[in-house]
Amino acid sequence: MRILVTGGAGFIGSHFVRSYADAAETTVLDKLTYAGNRANLAPVQDRITFVLGDICDAELLGKVVPGHDLVVNFAAESHVDRSITAAGEFVRSNVLGVETLLRACLDAGTPRIVHVSTDEVYGSIDTGSWDETAPLSPNSPYAAAKAGGDLIALAYARTHHLPVSITRCGNNYGPYQYPEKVIPLFVTRLLDGRNVPLYGDGGNVRDWIHVDDHCRAVRLVAERGEPGEVYHVAGTTELTNLELTARLLAALGADWRRVERVPDRKGHDRRYSLADGRLRALGYAPRIPFERGLAETVRWYATHRSWWEPLPERVP
Ligand code: NAD
Repeated sequence: MRILVTGGAGFIGSHFVRSYADAAETTVLDKLTYAGNRANLAPVQDRITFVLGDICDAELLGKVVPGHDLVVNFAAESHVDRSITAAGEFVRSNVLGVETLLRACLDAGTPRIVHVSTDEVYGSIDTGSWDETAPLSPNSPYAAAKAGGDLIALAYARTHHLPVSITRCGNNYGPYQYPEKVIPLFVTRLLDGRNVPLYGDGGNVRDWIHVDDHCRAVRLVAERGEPGEVYHVAGTTELTNLELTARLLAALGADWRRVERVPDRKGHDRRYSLADGRLRALGYAPRIPFERGLAETVRWYATHRSWWEPLPERVP
């Protein structure tokens, strides 16, 4: 079995590679943007082939993609805040990149492809949960670009019978996440005795999932999912940002004096929520309770300063 993992040096992609590198011959193709980090692959570096490259580079993909039994695409610009200030790279990597990669898979006759996406493509939902047939209604440039990539993937499945499935997941947390996203940002700042910025009224709700559960879901969809279908990977714990902040403060022995209220993110979606019945019908169930996963994650950042301290700070 030969697997190509695009975006495999990022947070989720590298977890996938570290988890499954022993089970398959693995190639990682990654552009190493600010979010990509070879150190994320250090534990498996002797067991994988790393290719520095861009999923928008058709010529390179024409050489790299053939011969793989499975392609899993994690490559994307992934931070909503950055898409608000500069969306161009998001459109390039998350839409054009997906199309270029899928075209290469089509040309190579790749037997199985999973394209990794997000709950944010649906917009915001006050109550209830989306199922896989809900209309796409993205609000941020990040979500709009991800929706564009998803639609290209579905079009390739429909038009060319490309065996691609899509996974859409809620908010991930875990080790090796770039400290621009809220959990590692707050944890690393609190570890340094600094204040943390809380958007708006703190009432935005996110459904959290440990990165390991997400990666098991992606693997299951690769093995047992239907081509042309979308699979939701729901989180295990819905929390407002205020509730999340309270847990992080408690975990790090800090109090609310460390929290600075900052103006809300532009267009900030209030709540996301996925119904994951289709994935559960394949036998999936999350394994990592939020309390345990969060405690382990906090411990990881506390004991891995050498991983995050050199990373440039990218948030105010
Ligand atoms: P990340 O930003 O940590 O990693 C993205 C990786 O993709 C980086 O290694 C980067 O160098 C690489 N990359 C970016 N553009 C590229 C390009 N054009 N060619 C090749 N490589 C490129 O992101 P993440 O949090 O690991 O997210 C991975 C995927 O999962 C993304 O598609 C994201 O939309 C999706 N997702 C993330 C979450 C989350 O909570 N983080 C939730 C649901 C879905």
